[in-house]
Amino acid sequence: MLDYYRFKEVHDLFTKGKCDEARKVLAELQEKYIEVHDENEMLRTQLQEFEDVLYLAKNLEYDGHSYWLKTGTIKQGPFCQNCFDRDGLLIRLGESGDKWRCLSCGVVYARDEAGLASPARDNGERREPGKVIHLYK
Ligand SMILES: [Zn+2]
Repeated sequence: MLDYYRFKEVHDLFTKGKCDEARKVLAELQEKYIEVHDENEMLRTQLQEFEDVLYLAKNLEYDGHSYWLKTGTIKQGPFCQNCFDRDGLLIRLGESGDKWRCLSCGVVYARDEAGLASPARDNGERREPGKVIHLYK
């Protein structure tokens, strides 16, 4: 924690003409500030990651075949069950005729009349990855 009195000490040392001593204390304070700043940034990043995970835990639904993400009143998806379960990645399935295909792992999902996806036979074809949302590091 940065100490107000250490900064006051620097001020007093400069005022008394003890510039070398003041610079030394100021350098220590700068070093400490940088450490605190870096720790703060790391904690902010961790907090954001925890908030993201919590958001997903509250808003991610599994319909028995694939994942859907509720954002307000909109339900986004479907997302590949294979990629999420294996890597923690939300990969949106792309429409491919009467099927949905994962653009990352290539798994093909059959669509039923209700628009639900269920895993279908993988034809082995691979495409370039689509948009990737990283949940875990
Ligand atoms: Zn996938």
